[in-house]
Amino acid sequence: MARTPLMAGNWKMNLDHLQAAHLLQKLDWTLRDGRHDFGAVEVAVLPPFTDLRTVQTLVDGDKLKVLYGAQDLSIHDSGAYTGEVSGAFLAKLGCTFVVVGHSERRQYHAETDEVVRQKVQAAYKHGLTPILCVGEALEVRQAGEQVPHVLAQLDAALEGLAAEQATSVVIAYEPVWAIGTGEVATPDDAQEVCAAIRARLAELYDAELAGGVRVLYGGSVKAGNVAAIMAQDDVDGALVGGASIDPAEFASICRYRS
Ligand code: PEP
Repeated sequence: MARTPLMAGNWKMNLDHLQAAHLLQKLDWTLRDGRHDFGAVEVAVLPPFTDLRTVQTLVDGDKLKVLYGAQDLSIHDSGAYTGEVSGAFLAKLGCTFVVVGHSERRQYHAETDEVVRQKVQAAYKHGLTPILCVGEALEVRQAGEQVPHVLAQLDAALEGLAAEQATSVVIAYEPVWAIGTGEVATPDDAQEVCAAIRARLAELYDAELAGGVRVLYGGSVKAGNVAAIMAQDDVDGALVGGASIDPAEFASICRYRS
């Protein structure tokens, strides 16, 4: 099944709302100038919560074709959860996507597989598409255990998720040792794990559903290495951190085919 590639820029905790507006306009101009076909390669930005209103205003006002989403959400809908942001609020701000289970959340905020599972459920409850991050630490890769490790994370996150929802999930394979380090996985390494993820989706659901799910690679993706990674059969896009806050670089990543 043909899958539309997705290039998603995770801005992490960077850019205030004014900088966000500037970046988004520059990204949009650069892509339009290069006649980017947004239907052929989808582009999304994932700003901090505080930028979402600004991004929404620009996207709606200027009819931008860039999609957007948040970097996290609460497992709760509302209530006494100071500092949390619910999926309902994100949906009201027009978000399409929400990142769930990023390794920085797992590492610095002790998010367990069970919390990640609940966040996947919360995303669907509010009509958001989760970009579910999975990936192994360096020791796991050195032990050659990357595939079982990632599949265990996948199983846990998708437990109890109905096929009608799983059909739209986006999975991001992000080896932890490659995030923000400049160490990029080889295209073969990315393909090995992305193919294993797809095969597991076929076991959990069916081959048709697995064939339609987008599996992204993330970890030090840049304009110079994206084409080789995107040439792999089971890689359907990239989750880009550092390089996504440079609009020219991110636009080049989005235009990897030209
Ligand atoms: C990320 O934050 O998801 C990421 C992949 O970061 P970077 O591209 O900087 O490695």
